[in-house]
Amino acid sequence: MSNNLLTVAYIGASVLFILSLGGLSNQESAKKGNIYGILGMVIAFIATALSSQVTGYGLLITVIIPGAIIGSILAARVAMTSMPELVAILHSFVGLAAVLVGFANYLNPDPSLVGAEHTIHEIEIYVGVFIGAITFTGSIIAFGKLSAMISSKPLMLPARHLLNIAMLGSSIWLGVQFMSTENGLNPLSIMTAIACVLGVHLVAAIGGADMPVVISMLNSYSGWAAAAAGFMLSNDLLIITGALVGSSGAILSFIMCKAMNRSFISVILGGFGEGAGKSSGKSQAPAGEANPTTPEETAQLLREAKSVMIVPGYGMAAAQAQHPVSEITKILRKRGVNVRFGIHPVAGRMPGHMNVLLAEANVPYDIVFEMDEINEDFPSTDVVLVIGANDTVNPSALTDPESPIAGMPVLEVWKSAEVIVFKRSLSPGYAGVDNPLFYMENSKMLFGDAKKNVDNVLRALSDLEAGKEKVLVTA
Ligand code: NDP
Repeated sequence: MSNNLLTVAYIGASVLFILSLGGLSNQESAKKGNIYGILGMVIAFIATALSSQVTGYGLLITVIIPGAIIGSILAARVAMTSMPELVAILHSFVGLAAVLVGFANYLNPDPSLVGAEHTIHEIEIYVGVFIGAITFTGSIIAFGKLSAMISSKPLMLPARHLLNIAMLGSSIWLGVQFMSTENGLNPLSIMTAIACVLGVHLVAAIGGADMPVVISMLNSYSGWAAAAAGFMLSNDLLIITGALVGSSGAILSFIMCKAMNRSFISVILGGFGEGAGKSSGKSQAPAGEANPTTPEETAQLLREAKSVMIVPGYGMAAAQAQHPVSEITKILRKRGVNVRFGIHPVAGRMPGHMNVLLAEANVPYDIVFEMDEINEDFPSTDVVLVIGANDTVNPSALTDPESPIAGMPVLEVWKSAEVIVFKRSLSPGYAGVDNPLFYMENSKMLFGDAKKNVDNVLRALSDLEAGKEKVLVTA
């Protein structure tokens, strides 16, 4: 393929990647966004494979085919709730690739690069390997924590910030050695080992509750590592794609931190998120008793309501209750009930988690609202169904300054006339914080697996619709 054609293909792929990101920002255009991304990647792959730089087709096919098969099987099998783990391990590959490209470039230098160009190229190699090594080991630790292979507790070594600074400082010093000697392989290798330890330490210091933000941060690092590899290989497309991934990952991490009321800097420096699984001790314990209810009673309430809000959370994903939830929505809408969904930005275990599940169950997009769009409407809502959500509807975030989630914006479900909470027990959610909502006068608990209970409510509602009213079983 001629260089001109290659440039045209790369520009086309870059445009498709940008369109893809644009499409993914909205549910209605997300499918189109995905297709743009796939097309861009196919063009990028074919153009690179046909470029004059690539000659070893035997080797290329030997690695691409098993890679494509393994990737397709993993992607087809992964459950939505395990997506962060898959993303983490994939980031580690990007990091490792950047390290390998860096070493290969150093060991096989381009003789045409002299003077300032040579110096810049060496800096690119050093920085690329550094970011790649941190991304590689950091992502492996993130994968281990998310898949519960290693403890999600933060590793709090004494003087850990000093340790990080020492590792960073020695990497900079080694960089100076690398640039000033003929044989820079030793400083490059030692720095790689240090950066690998730094990656492990940075992510090990982060608690379970902050892990999804770390995944998004590592996504960003992997983008910058890819961009660095693009500089090393003088590949414009890799630079553009890396920059797109790097900046979008950083923006996403920032949005997630804001939604959880965490400081971006403290998350990436580690040592936070230790609140997961335990309460601060000083926060107020909720008072009163929870009121249990039944699926039949819930169906009756829904039937009498004029406006219903459904607030899903991680438990809906874990129970896979989205399909019967969608059926209930259809029945109520047919009755003329105003049914809407309220989605917290961090509901579930990754951004957009709930939106994907609801789209999968064919819930119309125009009744799914973001927290900011819907929060003011709770006082005029008759019934709220909280399905497997907990932290994202916890009033103590607004009322208890000692709460570990104090200041986190939440869906103010308790302001509605009636709240039904679908969950298996009174135990806390991801952040490990008790929830006073469960003990409020206007809330009732529908205990049990969310799928089973939503199915039961659906059955009871359908029976009522069919005129087969049953005697209400009060708990
Ligand atoms: P939570 O983790 O707060 O609560 C989920 C609840 O679902 C649990 O309390 C659990 O209660 C219940 N549950 C679990 N399985 C089932 C089941 N099979 N049937 C019924 N209920 C079930 O989830 P939220 O979505 O409200 O909040 C998300 C949390 O994740 C927040 O703390 C957020 O900060 C955190 N997070 C999210 C990120 C994101 O990007 N989405 C990023 C970082 C963190 P029980 O065991 O009693 O059933």
